[in-house]
Amino acid sequence: MEILTSQLPSGGYGYDFPSLTIKPLTFMEICGYNENVPSEPLAKYMYDIKVLMRDDPHILDVYVMDLDFLIFYKKLITVSGDLTYSLSINCPKCGNKIDAKIDISKDIHFSQIDQAIMDGAVINLNGHKYDVNVPRVRDFLKVFDIYLRYKKVSDIKMIKTIAMISGFDTEANQIEKDVLGATHEDITLLLALRELYYERLEPINLICDKCKEDGREASVAVSVESLTVDFFRDVCKNCPIDGTKILFK
Ligand SMILES: [Zn+2]
Repeated sequence: MEILTSQLPSGGYGYDFPSLTIKPLTFMEICGYNENVPSEPLAKYMYDIKVLMRDDPHILDVYVMDLDFLIFYKKLITVSGDLTYSLSINCPKCGNKIDAKIDISKDIHFSQIDQAIMDGAVINLNGHKYDVNVPRVRDFLKVFDIYLRYKKVSDIKMIKTIAMISGFDTEANQIEKDVLGATHEDITLLLALRELYYERLEPINLICDKCKEDGREASVAVSVESLTVDFFRDVCKNCPIDGTKILFK
């Protein structure tokens, strides 16, 4: 399936190609995925990136904010043929089961992107001046590879934060120290950058009928990322077969 870069969280800003090809996993690929996907979160993330790269070599040139959406998108089109996804979660307030069907074209929204922020920024962190660029997969992988190998930092958000700052190839130790050891307003700065450059997907709001009935606040926010955790189990639920598919003799 073709997805236009203008439909990505970045809005396609700064891309010199108009679209990407993302394919649903086949039965054989799903089985291979389930057998080989590492359970350790960092290795799993790398595995997801590699699976996605098989579809389109342009993945190396997309922004990491778009990459995360594309990982979700590939799983979604694998599970569902029509870009909708049936899910059920338990209401965190009353435990009632909420069944919902989300439609990617209607229910998934990105925070509005301001083109100025896509041009990057200059920051002052722990007395050092750094250039911040919206990281593309190619640059991010250089940083990610190192942390995957040496396992010094296991928090993917922290690695992504380090990867936003230019100059890792020459000043890795200083950048790492300034990010991991950030205090006070430097923490606020890094959190703001994370939100700007990575956290673009707005949570989906579902309504709990039981809470509504009882007069409580009925809206339950579900993060889009959390939907993909056990995605492949949901293939059969989302793709039921009708009577024309099997005729028993
Ligand atoms: Zn409820």
